[in-house]
Amino acid sequence: MAAAAVFILLSLPARSAELVTQHFHFRSNSASQQLLNQVGQVAEASVAKHRRDWLAGADLRWPGRANIEIVYGRGSSVTSTIYRPTGPQRITGRWVGNRQTLLYDHVPHEVLHIVFALHFGRPLPRWLDEGAATTVESSTERSRIDNWLMAQLHKSPPNTIPIDRLFALREYPPGQTYQVYAQGHSLVMYLLTLGDRQQLMRFTAAGLAGGDDVAAWQRSLKAHYGFEHLVQCQGRWLDWIRGRLGNRRNPGVRAAPQPVPS
Ligand SMILES: [Zn+2]
Repeated sequence: MAAAAVFILLSLPARSAELVTQHFHFRSNSASQQLLNQVGQVAEASVAKHRRDWLAGADLRWPGRANIEIVYGRGSSVTSTIYRPTGPQRITGRWVGNRQTLLYDHVPHEVLHIVFALHFGRPLPRWLDEGAATTVESSTERSRIDNWLMAQLHKSPPNTIPIDRLFALREYPPGQTYQVYAQGHSLVMYLLTLGDRQQLMRFTAAGLAGGDDVAAWQRSLKAHYGFEHLVQCQGRWLDWIRGRLGNRRNPGVRAAPQPVPS
């Protein structure tokens, strides 16, 4: 109704900004219209790029535009998908950051979560979802994650989650959220040295279709990467990390980890 629409417009705060693009409806009470326009451009470009890079251009069935609130400030970004048996029903988000972190880290990251949700129609294991999403962030943020993980590996004993437990996680273990991000990022980066992104997607599809339990992921890991067992994958992954560690004279932590985007 026109009257209702007028009421909504009049009730918005003076600084509110709004943008409707092909796949998104953005609103913000703290970001400028200019920033919102840039967010929209990056989000739409990310949809196209992620579809091309990860899904070989496969079509995505959107359940309507994703409703995203943009918050200019500090904090964690989150994207929520409500699933039904046939796939996503509704996608909402609250993406938080400054101009730099929104455009170069959070927007590409969150859009990849959406692309995965639409493509697979169900949630992915946390390590895989976050591990892949962090690979499309800026090199600055990826270095921060890498350095944090290396500092954990320098501890005695090393502070890591065993791979079989990592593969079984559906939620974050208390106090180890960033651990899941960092290990997921590193493990995905390692798998991407063995095959391209689309191979990782085939591995993902087979793991989900095979039952989405540790045994299913182990079967998919063997089929797509040749590992006989999760432990073998973990050993090779750690060797790969140590090789990278050896190339860094001082792999210490650059800074405390940023608030974790989801
Ligand atoms: Zn995320």
